[in-house]
Formats: sequence, C-alpha cells, structure tokens
Amino acid sequence: MTGTEPGEIREIHQKLLERYGEPEEPKEMTGIEYLIETILSQNTNDINRDKAFRNLKERYGNDWQEVVEASQDELADTIRVAGLGPTKAERIQRALEIAEETRGEYSIEFLKDTDTEKAESWLTDIPGIGPKTAAVILLFHFRKPKMPVDTHVHRIAQRFELVPEGCSRGKSHEILEDVVPDGIKYSFHKLLIAHGRETCKARNHLDNEDCFERCIYYREVVLGEKKPDEVV
Ligand code: SF4
Repeated sequence: MTGTEPGEIREIHQKLLERYGEPEEPKEMTGIEYLIETILSQNTNDINRDKAFRNLKERYGNDWQEVVEASQDELADTIRVAGLGPTKAERIQRALEIAEETRGEYSIEFLKDTDTEKAESWLTDIPGIGPKTAAVILLFHFRKPKMPVDTHVHRIAQRFELVPEGCSRGKSHEILEDVVPDGIKYSFHKLLIAHGRETCKARNHLDNEDCFERCIYYREVVLGEKKPDEVV
C-alpha cells in the first residue's frame, strides 16, 4: 500500500472533473455485447474496435448462434480491422459457447446477481479474458465496484504516487481498487484515461503551469531541478 487516502483520490478526481468534464455514461449494450466488444478492443484503438463490432453486427445481427457456427476464417475476416482476427474470432466463439454452456443461452446477465469476486472469476476463466477486461465488463455494464487499470491509468497512478513507482499493473489494480471510492470508480477511470490521452502522455506530455502539483514529474522536473529521465 502507498498510504493514499480516499480523500486524496476525491481531490484529484475533482480537479480532473474541472479539466475534462463529467465522462459520458457507458454505452447501452447487453453483457454479451460488452464481452465481445472487450475482446475486440484488445491491442487496438477504439475506432478500429468500433468498426469491427459494427461489421460483426451487420453480418450476424444478434444471432450469436450464427457467430458460433461461422467458420473461423469468415469471422476473422469480418472483424479483421481490429487486428489479430483469427485469435479474436476463436476467443469470441469460445466465450459465446461458455456463456451458452453455463446458462443455456447466449447471455451473461446472470452476473448481475452474482457476487463480484465470483463474477470476476467466471469471466477470467474464459480464454483471453484477463483482469482488466473482466473489470471493464463488470464496472461498465454491471456497475460493480471494479477499477480497470489500463496503460494510462497505470502510468498516471505512478506519476501521482498513488501506487509505488515501477510496480506491476496488477499491483496498481489491487491498490486502486481498494482506495478509489466505489461511487467514483467509473468516473475516475474514465478521467484518468482522458488525462492520459490528451495531456499526460507517456512521452512529450503537455506540462503546464496549472498541471497537477500532486504529480512527481511536475514537482521534481517542471518546478524542480531533476532531468526528465530521472522520474517516471
Ligand atoms: S506535469 Fe506532465 S506528467 Fe505531470 S500530470 Fe502534468 S502532464 Fe502528467
């Protein structure tokens, strides 16, 4: 633990809100659509993920049985724009099969009434679904108290010293999930991503005078005397 208090998180959250505004609500989709979309989103950007998802819906509609029965080549070709077509096609088909084997239908809405840990464990048992993907589905669709940690969230959490510098992403996940108040987990997650995309990039971040005093880089490089490569 880093000793970060929920009150400190609320302060950062407030500053991020002032800078980027209230994040949009999650998309209105079914759980199974979220499951497929998060598989498509692996190692690509939102634009290509959305195109691949649209292509899939245009070809198969909501007929998940047809997706399962499609040849892997055909499905891979349909979602090709998101990259890793064959791998993602196999994962999507297997995820649909597992959902159907569990409840006899292509639906994962039963997770709403499932304890969060059990729901996470069920999701991460699906090949290709890791803790971050599971956390996105549980937080965005089921509104469960999860904190997905992607590369932006992990980087900024270190710069803000919410997690130890150089720790693993898994460790960041563990700490942030514990310390970020449940009611702002979604908003905090989205705002950190907005900050990471628009300002606090991995390289060439846009430091300016009203940047975050909380940030180790700001204190030690912008206001202090350290060289950029001496901090995160
Ligand atoms: S000073 Fe740079 S590293 Fe720190 S929060 Fe601002 S953009 Fe990010």
